[in-house]
Amino acid sequence: MGMNVGLCAVCRSPGAIHSCALCGKLVCPRHFQHGAGVCTQHAGPGPGLPHGVR
Ligand SMILES: [Zn+2]
Ligand SMILES: [Zn+2]
Repeated sequence: MGMNVGLCAVCRSPGAIHSCALCGKLVCPRHFQHGAGVCTQHAGPGPGLPHGVR
C-alpha cells in the first residue's frame, strides 16, 4: 500500500489517477475525458472546454 497517486498535469492537484492516451500525463478525474480516454487538453470538441476549439 502507499500513496500511488500523482499530481494532475492540468490543475496540479493530488489525486491524478488517470493517464492521457495521447500525452500520457496523469490527470485528475475532473480533467479526464472518460469517453475519449484522454485529458481535457487533448479531448475533442465537447462540453467542459474553456475554449471552443474546433
Ligand atoms: Zn485536474
Ligand atoms: Zn493529454
